[in-house]
Order: sequence, then C-alpha cells, then structure tokens
Amino acid sequence: TDIQELLLSRIRDVADYPEQGVMFKDITPLLADPAAFTALTDTLADIAGATGATKVVGLEARGFILGAPVAVRAGLGFIPVRKAGKLPGATLRQAYDLEYGSAEIEVHAEDLTTADRILIVDDVLATGGTAEAAIQLIQRAGAEVAGVAVLMELGFLGGRDRLAQALDGAPLEALLQL
Ligand code: IMP
Repeated sequence: TDIQELLLSRIRDVADYPEQGVMFKDITPLLADPAAFTALTDTLADIAGATGATKVVGLEARGFILGAPVAVRAGLGFIPVRKAGKLPGATLRQAYDLEYGSAEIEVHAEDLTTADRILIVDDVLATGGTAEAAIQLIQRAGAEVAGVAVLMELGFLGGRDRLAQALDGAPLEALLQL
C-alpha cells in the first residue's frame, strides 16, 4: 500500500551495527518526517481500536516513542515496560534469554488490572524474545494480551513462531515484513 511504501522509504539500513554482520533498521528518519510518523501512529491506533485494547504497553526504548502517541490517538492509557532497575515503584520482573546472556524487563504492577486488555507496541520484532517476555509479564499481572503490533517484522529470525504459544490466538500485526 501507499502507507507501507512511505514507511519503508523512511527506514534506514545501517550495516554492521551494533555488531559485525547485523543490518540495523533505523527508524529515526521516519520519526523526523511528520507525514510518515503520523501515518504510522494512525495505523497502529486503528489496530489498537480493532483489538479492543484498553491500554497500550510500549517496550523500552523505541516502543515508548511509537506507543505513546498511539495511546493518545486511540484514547487509551500508556504503560512503559522498562529494562530492570528503572521503575521506582513495586514491579513485576521477567527474565529472557539473549543471544549471549540474558536480560530482564519490569512493569509497575499497579498499572495493570485484571480488566485490562493490552496492545504491546514496539518498532521491530526480531527473535521475539523481548515481546515474549512482555506478554508473560502482562499475563502474570492478571491482564489479557489483546495483541502485539510492530512496525517491522524480521521474518527470517522466527519471532512469529516463538510468540505463537504465548499469544494464544491474539493477533501479531506487523506493518512491514522484512
Ligand atoms: P527481539 O527480542 O530479538 O525480538 O528484539 C527486539 C528488540 O530489539 C526490540 O525492542 C527492538 O527495538 C530491538 N531491535 C532488534 N533489531 C533491531 C533493529 O534492526 N532495529 C531496531 N531495533 C531492533
């Protein structure tokens, strides 16, 4: 579609970042273009509405930049899921495996209720490890996952398959398949 072409044209490929052999997808040109950023926000807000989400969760850090305007546009609250050690209140914490080692993410437990249906927003779905941990965090808090929405899915890394079980039928929406 025209929107997909616009979005794709504003993503920059950076070779060998953050390490040799990785082609990093940089969204800063898209953020700097008001037409593209608005089109992305509106498209993700439509998905939030279609899934019946009650709140948007953004994953640190680019998921904050994308998720916050989506929440406002959709008339929903926003909840940050942060890397461990950044949130001041009582948190739930979830560990997940990285290629080398592991990482942990956290959410403020009281921001999620059992009545919430959560749309998780991030820029890139790669291996799916981050999104899978976020789904587990939300479910442990007693809330329901309405879906995951990302700008880009790097299909060759298999994230969609990794998320299938945790999603339990909830949609994974990727605006671009790369
Ligand atoms: P995953 O956990 O392997 O799916 O990696 C997804 C996380 O890493 C997301 O939070 C992304 O922001 C980040 N990420 C992975 N690859 C890229 C990339 O090429 N560009 C921007 N972010 C990326």
